[in-house]
Amino acid sequence: MSSELIHQLTNSPTHQPLGLYVHIPFCSAICNYCNFNRGLFEAGLKARYVDALVLEIERAGGAGKAGKAGADTIYFGGGTPSLLEPEEVARVIAACGEAFDVSPDREVTLEANPESVTEERLGAYRAAGVNRLSFGVQSFRDEELTRLSRLHDADRARAAYGEARRAGFDNVSLDLMMWLPAQRVEQWLASIDAAIDLAPEHLSLYLLEVYPNAPLKDDMARAQWSQAPDEDAATMYLTAMERLDGAGYEQYEISNVSRPGRRSRHNMKYWIDGEWLGFGCGAHATREGARWKNVSAPEDYITRVRAGESPACDVRRLPPDERLGDALFTGLRLTDGVSLDAIRSRYDVDVWQRYGAHLEPFIAEGCLIRDGERLRLTRRGMLLAHEVMTVFV
Ligand code: SF4
Repeated sequence: MSSELIHQLTNSPTHQPLGLYVHIPFCSAICNYCNFNRGLFEAGLKARYVDALVLEIERAGGAGKAGKAGADTIYFGGGTPSLLEPEEVARVIAACGEAFDVSPDREVTLEANPESVTEERLGAYRAAGVNRLSFGVQSFRDEELTRLSRLHDADRARAAYGEARRAGFDNVSLDLMMWLPAQRVEQWLASIDAAIDLAPEHLSLYLLEVYPNAPLKDDMARAQWSQAPDEDAATMYLTAMERLDGAGYEQYEISNVSRPGRRSRHNMKYWIDGEWLGFGCGAHATREGARWKNVSAPEDYITRVRAGESPACDVRRLPPDERLGDALFTGLRLTDGVSLDAIRSRYDVDVWQRYGAHLEPFIAEGCLIRDGERLRLTRRGMLLAHEVMTVFV
């Protein structure tokens, strides 16, 4: 597919506002479990990368005001976006505002690592237009953070959170990881309690996946750290969710809870069959039933953008069945589940007629609920989400 077509797709009229994802692929050190698209920070490369990002965003935009697509979220993900200078973040946000019709009530999230911020720096991000922070805390226990080779300790995570509040942020999310090497149920729950004590607006709870080639795998073998048995992982998940319910959080997605009204508006687009554009190396985009991805290596990305070429590769139009499967697969991650009526009007498919026979056993087991025209997983069903979702793919 040509870059003209991508430009056309990028700027076609929006039914729902787009999300704009901006990838920052630099980290101060590489964590032993990490499988993301990232590399070591290098100041010169970062400066050239930000220039390319601004160029890519400017070129993506429509020519005149009437031609601009609407957007209502900007999300800086990584890597470690808090390694960008606040002026660089401001330049990227300004480029988004030039190229797209970004709504005044936009949500602008910056992922941040606790060791890379100060109150002053966070205040400068806020002045640059960031209004939501997502801290990669992972654990409030120092020994677990050391095992994950993270650069911060629990005190630094708490301090960063306090700095964010003093800098004026009223929308803060914390990431925590469960099923860590040598972590037992009570130790995981200690991190949950520590997070609840801080009272962030949003929390994301991820299960650690140890990839076959992750250095952590060797560290675990050497130190004889094992992950708790599967049934303990289930207890970790269910008990954490119960504690968060009790503390007034609302689970809205398999891995995410928030205070009422504080869901991640950007991430919701991934789960409600929404549309988004991605900028920077390795970033993905979805529009008008087409999907594409930028080249992964920062140097390759910079070279292409500087040469006036599109950095997109892997462009394809999704066949209708794949779009439908994806909409069901991602929609079931939400506690609200999916609307069968909405699926029917969008894809002209009666989900029950097509998949009902395969879904019935999950309903009988109490993993899935058909509630009027909605289909949703129970919390216990969320533990088996993968099995349920394979029905659709
Ligand atoms: S900070 Fe995040 S992106 Fe960077 S290496 Fe660690 S886990 Fe990966």
